[in-house]
Amino acid sequence: MHWEKQIRASATPRRPGGMSVLLTGAAGFVGTHVSLALHKRGDGVVGLDNFNNYYDPSLKKARKALLASHSVFVVEGDINDARLLAKLFDVVPFTHVMHLAAQAGVRYAIENPASYVHSNIAGLVTLLEACKSADPQPAIVWASSSSVYGLNEKVPFSELDRTDRPASLYAATKKAGEEITHTYNHIYGLSITGLRFFTVYGPWGRPDMAYFSFTRNILQGKPITVYRGKNHVDLARDFTFIDDIVKGCIASLDTAEKSTGSGGRKRGPAQYRIFNLGNTSPVTVPTLVRILESNLKVKAKINVVDMPGNGDVPFTHANISFARAELGYMPTTNLESGLKKFVRWYLSYYGYSPRSGDIALAAEAGEEAK
Ligand code: NAD
Repeated sequence: MHWEKQIRASATPRRPGGMSVLLTGAAGFVGTHVSLALHKRGDGVVGLDNFNNYYDPSLKKARKALLASHSVFVVEGDINDARLLAKLFDVVPFTHVMHLAAQAGVRYAIENPASYVHSNIAGLVTLLEACKSADPQPAIVWASSSSVYGLNEKVPFSELDRTDRPASLYAATKKAGEEITHTYNHIYGLSITGLRFFTVYGPWGRPDMAYFSFTRNILQGKPITVYRGKNHVDLARDFTFIDDIVKGCIASLDTAEKSTGSGGRKRGPAQYRIFNLGNTSPVTVPTLVRILESNLKVKAKINVVDMPGNGDVPFTHANISFARAELGYMPTTNLESGLKKFVRWYLSYYGYSPRSGDIALAAEAGEEAK
């Protein structure tokens, strides 16, 4: 099918009043899940992703194939490509933009600072410019991060708490993204919702994240490195299951107001919102390891080292009262059951078969995975 036809077909909602969403970062972990969920309920979705090699490109290709099998089309391109964006908005009057493309990860920034500026600052501005020029102007929902709370020691973090102590370049670019989107909101009337995700995990997840790399190493009999904070305190994260994050993203899209910019649309200040999307129950990293060990039925080889102080924060903990009140957001999956689903996916995706006897749990998990 011709490119434009494919885009139009993918963008067309299959339910009355459905949205047409341009979803950046569609081949990413969160992007794949949100795209599928939108498509399943009859909204139109066109993905955009540059398929960078920050982590295993074959996993991104597999996610793209998964989306294609549900007739969700993913354009291969960069959010810095203003001409491509203009063409997309020319072909489809997108009602919403779900912006998830970013350079993620805190440690990668030490060797690759420019990629954070490219995707999280320059790319964001290019995308906002395209949204500003589009007619109609789409409502924008985008991924900020809990990392903006940085070295804040007051927990749980709520949206009005200070965000002036980023601990990494990644965090700084997300914080800058909040300032940039706010500026586009009040100058150009773009409707903006920023979502501060807290450590998202689940099937089709990101290989650079601890729960994923721990699983890989434990299965391969390799050691894992567990950081501990000052005074030997365990690090803790408010791990949030992907299905809960997806619900928060969709509720944000559903409650986003149309832009108030030029062209005869609604007058008055445009909507600007920031929400925490977390789980409200932090778990320490050693506990995460214990849950993985019990799911995999393999003992981990653990190296405990002091946190190097190059990007990680000691703990995260979301206050979700605002998201609960405004979006009806209420996470329902605890770490035990979420990791069970992740491990099941991992074993089936990487081909641990019950017959090969790769690991003790393979028989059990393989059966469940069918
Ligand atoms: P991901 O890396 O799996 O997905 C991001 C996708 O964006 C990737 O597929 C990548 O190829 C694409 N991309 C990057 N730069 C691009 C560019 N310039 N143009 C086009 N595509 C580009 O990450 P994820 O975990 O799915 O995260 C989604 C969003 O949520 C990101 O903005 C991330 O910063 C944010 N976030 C994630 C978490 C988490 O725990 N996963 C936590 C907080 C915030």
